[in-house]
Amino acid sequence: MSGFSRILQAGKASCRYRRYAGCSRFNCMSDSTTRRLFLGGTLLVLGGCATQSATSLTRVPGPIWTPPLKPALPPTPTPLPATAGVIARSVWAKGRPNPARMDRMTPIHRITIHHDGMSPFTDSSMSAAKQRLESIRRSHLQRRPQPFGDIGYHYAIDPGGRIWSGRPTSWQGAHVRAQNQGNLGIVVLGNYDQQSLNAAQKNALVRFLGQQMKTYNIRSNKVTTHQEMAATACPGTNLQAFMVGARKGRLA
Ligand SMILES: [Zn+2]
Repeated sequence: MSGFSRILQAGKASCRYRRYAGCSRFNCMSDSTTRRLFLGGTLLVLGGCATQSATSLTRVPGPIWTPPLKPALPPTPTPLPATAGVIARSVWAKGRPNPARMDRMTPIHRITIHHDGMSPFTDSSMSAAKQRLESIRRSHLQRRPQPFGDIGYHYAIDPGGRIWSGRPTSWQGAHVRAQNQGNLGIVVLGNYDQQSLNAAQKNALVRFLGQQMKTYNIRSNKVTTHQEMAATACPGTNLQAFMVGARKGRLA
């Protein structure tokens, strides 16, 4: 078979395979075989597809397939009910999550604790926490090469012991590289290499972790810190020590 005949034959085979769905130029070009041929002879492939498509429509009348105008985004999941005592994301965030840059959450089976690792943060006002959260969200949206679709953590704890909603739990977080599936991310605002947890933060962290462990049926050995999952200093020496003690004590 000559090179020309082989290309024409392969183009027809590609169209025949997709005939039942209504062969189109778009479909043919998405076929891997034809994509390879595309490099060698764009006009031949498109012509072959159009010819076969016309024949198919004559033989088998059916509904005409209309190509979508733009690629479909993943559907936005139904928001889960707000967790009691948690401040809504809408109170602080100055932008919506971008679903195109996030994956749906899979069943939650693990919790990971972080600090934000920026400058020490001891201001217990709501306004200070809002600013801190928004600055983290913006820095996550500016990540390169892959900007996040929202703040990477699901919850945050401020120096006043308040719990804030971050990324909705219907979306997978972005807080432990390659280990975000089913992993709830909680950040304690501040730098725990350079500061200690105050009593309000300790109580809030233990109480909230207890609630989440009960909600998702997670045992304390699945409540880990970032440095127990990956090579990082997060969540800082002092928060790390607190978590090691909490797992043996109040969270055991
Ligand atoms: Zn971390």
